[in-house]
Amino acid sequence: MGKPTGFKEFPRRVVGYRDVDARSGDYDEVYAEPEVEQLITQAARCMDCGVPFCQSGPGCPIDNLIPEWNDLVYQDRWREALDRLHKTNNFPEFTGRACPAPCEGSCVLGINELPVTIKNIENAIIDRGFAEGWVTPNVPSVRTGKKVAIVGSGPAGLAAAEQLNRAGHEVTVYERADRIGGLLMYGIPNMKLDKTGVVDRRVDVLREAGIRFETNADVGRNIDPKQLMAESDAVLLATGATVPRDLAIPGRELNGVHFAMEFLTAHTKSWLDSKLEDGQFISAAGKRVIVVGGGDTGTDCIGTSVRHGCQELINLELLDRPPADRNERNPWPEWPLILRTDYGHEESARKFGADPRRFAVLSKTFIDDGNGNVAGLRVVDISWSERDGRLQMTEIEGTERVLEADLVLLAMGFTGPESYLADALGIERDARSNYRAEHGPFATSIAGVYAAGDCRRGQSLIVWGINEGRGAARAIDEFLTGTSRLPAPRISMGE
Ligand SMILES: Cc1cc2nc3c(=O)[nH]c(=O)nc-3n(C[C@H](O)[C@H](O)[C@H](O)COP(=O)(O)OP(=O)(O)OC[C@H]3O[C@@H](n4cnc5c(N)ncnc54)[C@H](O)[C@@H]3O)c2cc1C
Ligand code: SF4
Repeated sequence: MGKPTGFKEFPRRVVGYRDVDARSGDYDEVYAEPEVEQLITQAARCMDCGVPFCQSGPGCPIDNLIPEWNDLVYQDRWREALDRLHKTNNFPEFTGRACPAPCEGSCVLGINELPVTIKNIENAIIDRGFAEGWVTPNVPSVRTGKKVAIVGSGPAGLAAAEQLNRAGHEVTVYERADRIGGLLMYGIPNMKLDKTGVVDRRVDVLREAGIRFETNADVGRNIDPKQLMAESDAVLLATGATVPRDLAIPGRELNGVHFAMEFLTAHTKSWLDSKLEDGQFISAAGKRVIVVGGGDTGTDCIGTSVRHGCQELINLELLDRPPADRNERNPWPEWPLILRTDYGHEESARKFGADPRRFAVLSKTFIDDGNGNVAGLRVVDISWSERDGRLQMTEIEGTERVLEADLVLLAMGFTGPESYLADALGIERDARSNYRAEHGPFATSIAGVYAAGDCRRGQSLIVWGINEGRGAARAIDEFLTGTSRLPAPRISMGE
């Protein structure tokens, strides 16, 4: 432990976001520049607990060795901290920016104080590593001659690719989009994760390590999956959970009602291709926008709409407003189910004078302007109660009203992977429509075909994608060589 009394001396201080007005006028990352001294005192708050809940149990899903790198940062030994971090995390620059940090929810200091700023420290270690030139490609000394095809280039596919390449296999990643990264590229906006400076930078390192990338390669449409299987010694499906949950209410077909991903993907592509000059995106400029659904996707729709210059913004949530603090049914070290105000909410509140979120609101019908365009959304307030252990909603009489809108974005989550690839291969799916494969073996119903990430576990997080990609790489390595020295990440809780 760096400083035994650090947790008593220093209060928690997070690396904040840039000034709200300044950042909402551009698409650069929202994070402020961290001060090194601040990070060192934050690392000094770590108590190096005998049982570090932050890196186990409900904490970090990839078992990051948090107390160890906190100590190294406190001692100003950044290079060693980076090596320790890379032992468990292939991409700390993605999680350091965008992970919700379950580790901090489980930090022992969090029992009676505010937790250590673990995520900020992780991000600072990797940013320093890139700045100093310490991040170099892991080129294997020996090649096995075995070929692995990975379908999908999100965090699960990329983590698996790096691990399998390290083990000496020849890895090709097939991605149907025109850029590599999955939702890291076309999903999470540039404000939260820089596309060229952070995502492409890592993909370049992987390419230099010997991994091949094929873009515009849609397996099951312009690439025959059976042929891919025949040409490869193993195949990993890491195709994500890309089917959005719909809002099947009258008027859904009206112009101006879009899935969040139609909005976010087109925006990022246009921004990367032409800084929005080509006009190939759904603009929120001058429009009254309603975002239905919260979470990261809802927040990203809000942040993007504010930057487009929307005229009004409302965010509807079906569930009740979460409490400000944990309640007794959600004790430490569980993930705290509390109200979180992220960058988009803050920016919208600054622009329009109030938090955009309205909780416990049910959408009933879209309103037609008479020309096939959306003009509003009829909603009603609801109350939630518990009966026989199940939540039930009741509409509150007299609260039905119309909210005017020219653009409605549906951000209500995802139901599972698309079916065409599974159908072409004939692999089994589970009751939730995910590819059936157990965490650990990651094997599908077809020998030599594996599945990892959101397509296997359902919509989740970057850090779980990395966990699964690493685990599937080990399983594939064992399948190909009979043994593996690749690390086995922890089994998902609840599986
Ligand atoms: C808007 C948004 C914001 C998010 N924000 C966060 C966040 O802040 N923090 C966080 O931790 N998580 C966040 N998430 C969740 C996180 O991005 C995902 O859990 C994670 O990316 C899943 O990784 P994956 O590798 O399983 O799949 P994905 O990242 O979805 O990648 C799958 C890739 O497979 C490709 N593909 C699919 N089918 C084929 C095919 N047949 N042939 C070739 N390629 C194919 C897809 O084009 C895609 O690129 C967010 C999700 C969304 C939608
Ligand atoms: S990956 Fe996420 S959970 Fe793990 S240490 Fe980083 S921020 Fe915490």
